[in-house]
Amino acid sequence: MAPMNDLRSARIRLYVEQPLGEGQTVPLTGDQAHYLFAVMRLVPGDPVLVFDGKSGEWLADVVEAKKRAGVLVCRENTRPLQLPPDLWLCFAPIKKTRTDFIVEKAAELGAARICPVQTEFTNSERIRRDRLQAHAVEAAEQCGGTYVPEVADLQKLSDLLDAWPEGRHLMFCDEALVGAGQALGEAPKGPWAILIGPEGGFSETERARLRALPFAHPVSLGPRVLRADTAAVAALTVWQQALGDWG
Ligand code: SAH
Repeated sequence: MAPMNDLRSARIRLYVEQPLGEGQTVPLTGDQAHYLFAVMRLVPGDPVLVFDGKSGEWLADVVEAKKRAGVLVCRENTRPLQLPPDLWLCFAPIKKTRTDFIVEKAAELGAARICPVQTEFTNSERIRRDRLQAHAVEAAEQCGGTYVPEVADLQKLSDLLDAWPEGRHLMFCDEALVGAGQALGEAPKGPWAILIGPEGGFSETERARLRALPFAHPVSLGPRVLRADTAAVAALTVWQQALGDWG
């Protein structure tokens, strides 16, 4: 077991892409080295917590610290991998900073996958997937997660629904149900996805298709119309409380 002071002083958590294991050498990217050594002022011998999204969290030591390069060595496993529930967050991208917020909150609240979808009234035609993925990584690093949800490429809502995986339920957050008191209720366990529309809401065609889907559960998020970013956080919270890993 690592000395307690090492665990306590290892305040920095870093997501790395390479697989980790005891004694494993971890070369750092230029950005990671800059962050650890220039910003956080770590020196050889200092402890860092690292995770790869697959093997839990590891205590590692800095063995080489250069300006834009460096090496860590994994000492021991400190936490097992904790996967989130099998929950996707599907949402129509909105303004840049608000979309960043949605991705950050989805990673913190425990979504397994984040799927930006283009609906009829979606304001933005493009997303920076790498940028959004970096936000998910940062959120996992700071919230103590050992898993990073994957941010998928932007796809059309109709394409997503055409290829919908069998057995996955859909919590369809429908603004037309504002105040209808239609809660998630006694929903079945299993794989799920949440769907949040854009600022303009869903079109009537989309709503009709969504309501007719056998796997869709239309849900109201209360008596007020929420902004899409608020709605995403509220829906994730309600779902986690009812069916997720909070209990
Ligand atoms: N412009 C629309 C509102 C869109 S709000 C209107 O005025 O009706 C953006 C998204 O948040 C919606 O598409 C829906 O998915 C979700 N949302 C917001 N408030 C909601 C509520 N009270 N119930 C269910 N979904 C809601």
